[in-house]
Amino acid sequence: MKKTELKKIKEILLERREKILSQAASVGEPVYSFKEEDLLDEVDLASTESDQNMSIRLRDRERTLLRKVDKALKKIEAGDYGKCEQCSEEIGFRRLEARPVTDLCIRCKEEQERIERSFADERA
Ligand SMILES: [Zn+2]
Repeated sequence: MKKTELKKIKEILLERREKILSQAASVGEPVYSFKEEDLLDEVDLASTESDQNMSIRLRDRERTLLRKVDKALKKIEAGDYGKCEQCSEEIGFRRLEARPVTDLCIRCKEEQERIERSFADERA
């Protein structure tokens, strides 16, 4: 991968990191800081609960994504970014630009999805 391409990917990753962190800071607070007496007035308890669940899911997803972003950034620092973890082929820049946290080339990713699908079929 060219240096300019790598630089661009790094910028995308850093931007994404910032976004996740600022989102994580804004999510949760209002949901978790409600008082019990507020809840008693709240007729629509069910919707409050589902809001809470949603924000917890969002945070889990953010944490996972953040880990992936950090991993990709570390790989850039180490100089082995852009290689498929499975077959060691170079992952195309277009794919990395669209999905900078990916570990797999498109071929291996499709293979992985095919296997996952077949496992899902077995469970069904
Ligand atoms: Zn591969």
